[in-house]
Amino acid sequence: MGRPGIGIVAVLMCAAARAQSPTAALLAELIRVDTSNPPGNEAKIDELLAAKLRPLGFQIDIIPTPVAGKSVMFARLKGDGSAKPVLIAAHGDVVGVERDKWTVDPFAGTMKDGYVYGRGAIDFKGGMAVFAQAVMDLAKNKVPLKRDVIFLVESDEESATYNTSWLAQSHWDKMDCEFALNEGGWILTKPNGDVRYVSVSTNDKSSMAVMLSAHGTSTHSSMPLPDNAIFALARALTKLGDYETKVELTPSTRQFFATLGQTADGPMKQYFADLVDGSDPAKLAAADKAISEDPLLHAIMRTTLAPVIINGGFRGNVIPGSAEANVNFRTIPGTTAEDVIAMVKKAIGDPNVEVTVGRPNAARPGTVPGAVAGVKDSPTTTALYAALEASAQKIWPGVPVTPYLFQAGTDAGAWRSRGVPVYGIYPYPISNEDLRRMHGNDERVQIKSLDQGTKLIYDTLVAVAGK
Ligand SMILES: [Zn+2]
Repeated sequence: MGRPGIGIVAVLMCAAARAQSPTAALLAELIRVDTSNPPGNEAKIDELLAAKLRPLGFQIDIIPTPVAGKSVMFARLKGDGSAKPVLIAAHGDVVGVERDKWTVDPFAGTMKDGYVYGRGAIDFKGGMAVFAQAVMDLAKNKVPLKRDVIFLVESDEESATYNTSWLAQSHWDKMDCEFALNEGGWILTKPNGDVRYVSVSTNDKSSMAVMLSAHGTSTHSSMPLPDNAIFALARALTKLGDYETKVELTPSTRQFFATLGQTADGPMKQYFADLVDGSDPAKLAAADKAISEDPLLHAIMRTTLAPVIINGGFRGNVIPGSAEANVNFRTIPGTTAEDVIAMVKKAIGDPNVEVTVGRPNAARPGTVPGAVAGVKDSPTTTALYAALEASAQKIWPGVPVTPYLFQAGTDAGAWRSRGVPVYGIYPYPISNEDLRRMHGNDERVQIKSLDQGTKLIYDTLVAVAGK
């Protein structure tokens, strides 16, 4: 009789625990506010959170943007001012959905099987719920603070204009801090659910648009000439397609791959070691090949390139005088526009194809060629990094914590380019399988992970801002 009884009690306790996870409940509420960008409508999120934070003593500042319904919120919990603020940032917008491919309503905040489902569960309403819950717990527990804790809800991270770069131009005084936390690294789990490693991003790759322009004689298509611009562009693109950029490890990626080596099994362990060692070209090439089967790891160890738009021709009977391709580069920090142009020219080997850096993507702070591309890794010697590391090791004893280079751009550029360290983390243990749902279908996060993440961030803030 005992066993079934315990089983039922365990099931009931489990259900109760699920219902009692305040972070999961908050996440479900946040998911129910559809902030798909465009248009975003982030103001609704700001109102929802302000109503919870204001009664707890947070000073709320909602900054309108020139677009109706889109705002940015600062919630500041005051310290005694003896140290500079710590800031934690989450973006309020999410990417859109292919609704017919979801098995649940993406904007219902459905909880089932120990998960919260919905658009933004991972990116980044889950993080917003964790950050908000952690700062609310700080206020509820009346933790005495030596520095202000600023919780920032951003707009336009996923697209459009009114992002942190825009905000920094007019409201830097509100964002200024000793260090900041945002999205970035992963707390990745093994197939058995245990945490494998905690990666904290200390830099982001930058995005660069490189334009290839081929020129030829514009003439009637009935009498083709050898200098056809479209053929010249096609040859150049074929050469780029066959070209592989070289492995370039930064101090943070070196440490990251060493950590992967420590926590890997089988032949991969040696491949990671050979990659980090890098002294034997044959071993390095073999390691590169094996590790690159994972597109994320392939991207972290090198500058990547991908043609994204081609243009050429306008009529069925005219050979155009020019043809153009836009090739998107994601560069390793420290790579300049000149480096990329030289590499592309060498790979193409055709002086008649012009190679120029296109207009930077204004929606992303990390896309100004040359300027932000050289931003250094945020140091791992600050009190915030140390607090994150210590808090992670308290929750997951023996699990390595490593710096990491984020493979895409985030909102961190606004601070990093001004010399303020930013550390990125998606604050919940996650499996590779669930990670693939980010920006995809049936996005979900484990309730248990949200609770562990809330503890991680709460303990980190107590350590770094508590007296
Ligand atoms: Zn995000």
